[in-house]
Parts: sequence; structure tokens; C-alpha cells
Amino acid sequence: MDLPTQDVCYFSEEDDHSQTEQPWGRFFPLGDSFVGLDLVKDEYTFGRGENCDVAFNNTGKRNQCFQAYSKVHFKLVRKDTSTGTHVFLEDKSSNGTFVNGEKVGKGNSQVLNNNDEIGLAMKKNKAFVFMDLNANEDMDLPRELTEKYTLTKVLGRGACGEVRLAFVKGSCEKFACKIISKKKFSVGGSSAVNMSSQVMTEVKILKAMKHPCIIGVEDVIDTPETLYIMLELVEGGELFDKVVSIDNYPELTAKLLFYQMACACKYLHDQGITHRDLKPENILLSSDADETLIKVTDFGLSKFIDAGSIMKTFCGTPTYLAPEILLTAGSGAYTMAIDCWSLGVILFIILSGYPPFSDDRTDMDLPKQIMGGHFSFPKQYWKDVSDDAQDLIKKLMTVDPKKRITLADALNHPWLKDEDVIARANKLMYPESDGMAPPNSMPSGKKRTLDGGDDGSNAKRKASSDTGSEPETP
Ligand code: ADP
Ligand code: MG
Repeated sequence: MDLPTQDVCYFSEEDDHSQTEQPWGRFFPLGDSFVGLDLVKDEYTFGRGENCDVAFNNTGKRNQCFQAYSKVHFKLVRKDTSTGTHVFLEDKSSNGTFVNGEKVGKGNSQVLNNNDEIGLAMKKNKAFVFMDLNANEDMDLPRELTEKYTLTKVLGRGACGEVRLAFVKGSCEKFACKIISKKKFSVGGSSAVNMSSQVMTEVKILKAMKHPCIIGVEDVIDTPETLYIMLELVEGGELFDKVVSIDNYPELTAKLLFYQMACACKYLHDQGITHRDLKPENILLSSDADETLIKVTDFGLSKFIDAGSIMKTFCGTPTYLAPEILLTAGSGAYTMAIDCWSLGVILFIILSGYPPFSDDRTDMDLPKQIMGGHFSFPKQYWKDVSDDAQDLIKKLMTVDPKKRITLADALNHPWLKDEDVIARANKLMYPESDGMAPPNSMPSGKKRTLDGGDDGSNAKRKASSDTGSEPETP
């Protein structure tokens, strides 16, 4: 690349004692009054002021915008956050710093991504292209999304695709963006288009779900190929990883977490929604603390994937799959009771640190163990766990779905009728009302039944937010 040699900026690196440090990014100059810069330090200020790390002056190649620069025009900050290391551009200027032609705005900041273009004072006055030297691959994202959000690293992957960390431009508010390829929904004889309108109907319903233990849907961006769902960000990772790292939870902590799962799933069931894919990978934790708010995620969409792939989504093994699904090889009609089974398996795992069914068993294969409900509580692992807890597991993991305990009854089971735990859970769920659960706000007559019957014909309307960008004020 032909870098202009005309020097109107100078670099802190010219002091030369930090030569050995590896740059984490690079600014490529765009206008010929700018020069390139390797980014080594964690903070840089750019502006007309002499004290800036990169001080623009107007002695070399003149720039007609020079007078419009602020003393500190923008600041670059590279910092560690709870979600990894990010580069933030903070706009300090009166006339604006532009990223890819969009004004950031004084006082706002946004995450800089690989290949972002920075302009000063005027959209057209392009100064630099930022190159992230640790960047991952490029993605093809729709304008509708990039206008509003910056997508960065992958937070997790699952059956539907990947989930990436997203920042709102301007405020740097964080979300998790679930990226769903619609091709995955064009199964079972329905066309992708028809399927995707059903998916949109579903997404709109998910958007209406409000429970502290259910992941919030903030925004939806729909394109012909892909659906982008902006979810409330949860920063404590998956219950799965936590259980693996700590082996198993003490009974009271397990109860606190399980109580929240039961409340969340009961709420879904009360709305007529079956989760269908409950497993520790889909239970997210708000923080690293053992006693933390949980968020159930990844619900409601799995029914659009055919039964065969639903069975595959269970990580290749049917660990959490209810026996009735295995019995009918995924072709039957199921009730909400399948969630209760899965919750039983999760409770078994968080109390003991191992799954109730295992491929290692030589006398019986896995499906047979599940369909027969062959699990036990060997003393060596279960001696410290109460009989009440074991009794609830047995009631949740009852093979006959008609005899299986419902969530309403599970919440009335002696193990969960623990005032102290309920009070602590309510404090986590409703901190603003000091642990007082609000009265059930869902009108009982408005139950939605989502399983079957919905042809999605009136789902044409996009559920995406129609917030446009505000008109620019001069
Ligand atoms: P899939 O349908 O593909 O399984 P999920 O919604 O379960 O998609 O997301 C896959 C993974 O992405 C999760 O297991 C989790 O690690 C991560 N993830 C999903 N949603 C969030 C979120 N809101 N905040 C943080 N991480 C998330
Ligand atoms: Mg998942």
C-alpha cells in the first residue's frame, strides 16, 4: 500500500522506546492529509490540540476541514470488558466523528470493527480505515443491521447457527445477536418462505414474553436469507460449563437455580409455549456467582426444525429427550410434559454432576434406558442429597407423560416449598421491588396455543423494530 509521506500528524511511536510492543491494530490513512499509524497503546487521542497523541496540523497538505476539527476530536480506547477485549471510538468533537459514514456523535462511543472507516467533521472527509489485527473473518450483514449495531465476537453456537456479541452504535449498549439461517427451516415439505413467515409469527410471540428468567427479545431483523434476533445479553455463560467446572452444586444452590427454571418454564407453559430443548446449554447465568439469576434461552423456535434434526440437536445424544419422543421416533404429538422430563434430567445433573443415563452402560443402550426410565441414585453420589430432591426428580422423570408432574405441582412440591430459597430467588428475579413478585399480569383468557394450527398466514408484518436513524442536526 502506498502510504502518503506528507506529514501532518505525528506519532507517539516516534519516541521509539516502545518499539518492541506488538501492534493490535492499524490505521490506514485515507485522505492525503493523513498518515498511517500502528496502534500499540491502549489509548489514543486524536485532534487539533497539541497534547493529542495524534495531533493534526495544517502545515503540510492542507485539509479544508481542518478548522472544523475539535481540540480532541476522538479518542480510541482499547479495553477489556466482561465480554472480551474491544476497541472503542469515543466521539469528543462538536462536528462529529464518522464511522462508515454514520456520525457517532459527541459523547457517544462505539465499538470499532475491522475495516471500519473513520471520517472527521464531515462524512466525506475520510481519514482512516481501521484494521483490527486480531480480526476474525468478515460477515455479510444487512444494512438494516449495520446501521444500528456492530457485531463482534461469537458468544456461542448451537443448532440454529451462531450467536454474536452486538453493540448498539452510539451507546455501546450490548446485546446477543442470534443469527438464524432460514435454510434450516425449509424442511418437512414446507417452503422456506412459508416456514419463515411462521418463524416470524413465533418470534413476535417470543418478543412478548416477559419474565426475569426468560431471555428478552429486543429487536428482530428479517432478511430473505437470514433472521437476526437481538437478545438481552447474559454474561455468566452456560449452566453447562458451570456444572462441568464445579462438578455439582450444593443442594441449596441447586434449589435456588432450579426454582427459577421451574418458574420460567411454568410461565412459558401458562402461555401455551413448550420449550422443547431444555438442557444446561440453554440455561444461561447472569453472573459468575453461584447464586445468580438464570435465563432460559433458545425456546419456541425448535419446533420448526423437523423431529429428526431436533433429535440431532441434543448434541448427538438424547440425554435430555423425553421417552415419548424416542418412542415415536420424533413423529408423535407432544405436550408440555416433555419440558418437565428435561427439567428432571437437568436437576439430576446439577445435584450429582453426572447424567442419569449413560452410553457406558453395557446392559442397556441409551434409548432403552430412557424409554424404560432406568436411572437410580447410587448412595456414593447421592448420600448428601435429600429424599425430597430425589422424589421430585422421580416425579419429573416419570416415563408416562400423563403421570408426570406438572410445573405448577412441582412448584408446590415440598422440596421447592422452601421459603428461604423462594425469598432469595425473588430477590434475584425482582430486585427493584425488593423480592416482591408482582401479581401474575397475564390475563388467563389470552392463552396462546402455539403447537400446531398456526399457518402463519397473517405473519407478513415484519417484527423488526422500525426505529430509523434520527435526522442529523447540523
Ligand atoms: P441454538 O438454537 O443455535 O442452540 P442458542 O440460543 O442456544 O442457539 O445459542 C447458542 C449459544 O449461544 C448458547 O448456548 C449460549 O452459549 C450463547 N448465547 C445464546 N444466547 C445468549 C445470550 N442472550 N447471551 C449470551 N450468550 C448467549
Ligand atoms: Mg441452544
